[in-house]
Amino acid sequence: MQSLDIRQKGALFGKKKNMAYKTRIEEETTCLECGGAVTGRKDKHFCSPSCKNRYHNRLQRQRRDIRLETITALSRNYEILEALLKEKVSSMPLPDLVRIGFKPDYVTGHRKGLYRHEEFSCFDIRYYRSSTKIFNVRRTASGER
Ligand SMILES: [Zn+2]
Repeated sequence: MQSLDIRQKGALFGKKKNMAYKTRIEEETTCLECGGAVTGRKDKHFCSPSCKNRYHNRLQRQRRDIRLETITALSRNYEILEALLKEKVSSMPLPDLVRIGFKPDYVTGHRKGLYRHEEFSCFDIRYYRSSTKIFNVRRTASGER
């Protein structure tokens, strides 16, 4: 009776394993780019070289776009901070800044400043940020890190 149980478990295990294997193969037979059938080696992900190129080009484009978006946001923040410095404004409410295109999440540096203030930097311009405003906007001395 006991040996029969073991055989049944073995049979079940074997069946499970086969099912998992089959599922994996089915997933791999679909082209990542066009969804078409992929024939040939099991580890192939694309139906053709052109699908492979299209897929990787799109991936590269998306990565480049993310970098560009970040650079654009940082540049805009820098312009705004420079304008504040030019007008000798060292403090401004966050909602006002956001309204003119400032993106508080984009910074080039962050550290705990004096008096536990959160200090951020955008290239060579530093400022403290609370939940409602930025303040003590200043340009760092050249060479200061
Ligand atoms: Zn394809």
